[in-house]
Amino acid sequence: MSNIYTEDAKKFNLHLDWNHKTKEAYLYDKKDNKIVQCKLCPRRCLIQNGNVGFCKVRKNIDGILYALSYELATHVTIEKIETEAIFHYMPGSNILSLGNFGCNLDCDYCQNWKYSQFQYTDPKFINRYTSDDIVQIALDNNVNILSWTYNDPAVWFEFVIDTARKAKEHGIKSLFKSAFYLTEEAVEQLCEVIDIFAISIKAMDEEYYKKFTKGTLPPVLKNAEIINSKGIHFEVSNLVVTDITNNMESYDKMIDFVLNKLSPDIPLHFTRFHPDYKYTNVEKTPIEDVNNARIRALSRGLKYAYIGNVFSGEGLNTYCPNCKELLIERHGLYSYLKDNIDVSGKCMKCGYTTNIVMENKNG
Ligand code: SF4
Repeated sequence: MSNIYTEDAKKFNLHLDWNHKTKEAYLYDKKDNKIVQCKLCPRRCLIQNGNVGFCKVRKNIDGILYALSYELATHVTIEKIETEAIFHYMPGSNILSLGNFGCNLDCDYCQNWKYSQFQYTDPKFINRYTSDDIVQIALDNNVNILSWTYNDPAVWFEFVIDTARKAKEHGIKSLFKSAFYLTEEAVEQLCEVIDIFAISIKAMDEEYYKKFTKGTLPPVLKNAEIINSKGIHFEVSNLVVTDITNNMESYDKMIDFVLNKLSPDIPLHFTRFHPDYKYTNVEKTPIEDVNNARIRALSRGLKYAYIGNVFSGEGLNTYCPNCKELLIERHGLYSYLKDNIDVSGKCMKCGYTTNIVMENKNG
């Protein structure tokens, strides 16, 4: 049992009272001797009584697995949907961004490590919200999309599911931004309530995943294919990391996957990295590198490729894949719809129908 977790939460300097029984986890099995096995992510941690799993926010208390961070948020803030590397769903929409803490990966260059690695999360940033509170905040601010983001919302699973379901009753959609290191059972449950997925694929390289993320690649790819097969809106992003993935071979592998296993219609975002967490000895990704990746993707047949963490430039804009007319111009996180894209996402110049969702359809 190589993945058995026997360490007490105290080892991680956890700073909340973790002995209260919050929400019983949705996906786990009970084993002998009060051991439980979490089935939320591919680690499938076996957790002894009194201990937490790799993500540090799921605890076995007397043979029952609890999602300790249920109803606890570090971020509840209004942003633009473009923040999430989602350019083809209701461009310019406000979203209610929701962040939590803990993660089932531990990427050396994590851009959100003060929340994803819970031992570094300052408790003064943690506040309690119920699902009803979140829905009410969205309603009060006329926000039609909840965005589960910041740290990986994978480990906030139960709260995401419950809140997204409640939000749906009010016509509010949910966006799930994740590295997608989840079991297929978890993905199936998410698909029942999530309307938009922003899938972050770190690299098309198993060794890379093991070394830099402490995860594995195959489940991530399989999950992306599951979402693709269901017809739910999704876009893919790839953080281009200086001296690791800012090279043509990496771009090509990523492009091949989207082109051959998903669809040339799926937007692919190449995002700049900034030095952070344990990976601080290199420069921010040069803009030229993400531009090169984008140009390569377009020349190889993807219809939509973008750059991210860049303020302006044509790499942020949407052009008609057929006649190359500018349809949406972007500066920073703001989108400006041009007159030549209609409400169905069609290019008025040549009649080509893009896959851009322009209107929020309830249900
Ligand atoms: S979510 Fe993943 S890392 Fe966390 S306890 Fe479950 S299997 Fe382990």
